Amino acid sequence: MRIGILAYQGGIYEHEYMLRRAFTELGVNGDVILVKKPSQLREIDGVIIPGGESTTIGRLAERFGVLDLLGDLIREGLPAFGTCAGAIMMAKKVRDSVIGEIQQPVLGVMDVEIVRNYYGRQRESFEIDLSIPALGEEPFRGVFIRAPAIVKLWNGAVPLAKLEGVTVLARQKNILASTFHPELSGDTRLHKLFIEELIRR
Ligand code: GLN
Repeated sequence: MRIGILAYQGGIYEHEYMLRRAFTELGVNGDVILVKKPSQLREIDGVIIPGGESTTIGRLAERFGVLDLLGDLIREGLPAFGTCAGAIMMAKKVRDSVIGEIQQPVLGVMDVEIVRNYYGRQRESFEIDLSIPALGEEPFRGVFIRAPAIVKLWNGAVPLAKLEGVTVLARQKNILASTFHPELSGDTRLHKLFIEELIRR
């Protein structure tokens, strides 16, 4: 199995490290591909869009000719996991907490509305234990860094975890999106969940 990480900017190597650990823990023969070129999209069974800066990631994906093709592949069923800025890349509707609705290049594949920099200056970054029933009883340490929040979901997009009334982890068919950074908590359970879903397909 090959999982691609969109590798322009952001937490690329942290995700690679976590994927490799998750493969080992699951006993799965897996490989990681750092995706920059459109041709690489044909070689992967799933894709992770890392956190970082969504405008930068979107612009580079557009410039490299990856944005539209990747969007089409995800709409056709390619499993995808977006974390933080990567979750912003998934959303059909993006707002900024200060400047309102914004136009930026995104994949626009998930029926959610997301608000960038939702937690504002006072709480730019924080860590908190999250309850994620899909992962079992043990809480998952959520690392939030200038995080967005998923404020609306429709058409079968569902929350898998919430914090203070907003969604921090959501799913719609083949797409997962987290507003926190699972690659930074040392907990491989979400990467394993993504891999296990790929195996079942
Ligand atoms: N605030 C960033 C953005 O809007 C996301 C932050 C992150 O990925 N850690 O793109």
